[in-house]
Amino acid sequence: MNTYTIIAGVMSLIIILSYFRNKRAKNKVIHVIDNNCTGCRRCLKKCRHKALEMVNGETSNRHVILKHPEKCTACKDCIIACKFNALELVDRKQ
Ligand code: SF4
Ligand code: SF4
Repeated sequence: MNTYTIIAGVMSLIIILSYFRNKRAKNKVIHVIDNNCTGCRRCLKKCRHKALEMVNGETSNRHVILKHPEKCTACKDCIIACKFNALELVDRKQ
């Protein structure tokens, strides 16, 4: 296998992964399950796109909301960080 074949393979892989990432970001978005959220802020620290924000609920304690849905890329970093099963991916159309 020569160098050009390897480079072409890597480029193709990057393009394919980028396609699926963009498709997921277009179709999916984070949803917060308010009752499970403890306000620990772990997800806020993980979100590189600043899509989440902490609020003080009127009827419940501090919890996270998806303040900027347009910024969410559905990367799941926040879901991995959350230890309380308070985040899930849902269809954007919901
Ligand atoms: S990591 Fe989970 S429990 Fe903690 S603030 Fe975020 S959603 Fe709430
Ligand atoms: S899925 Fe990614 S971009 Fe969306 S809120 Fe979570 S960490 Fe931020």
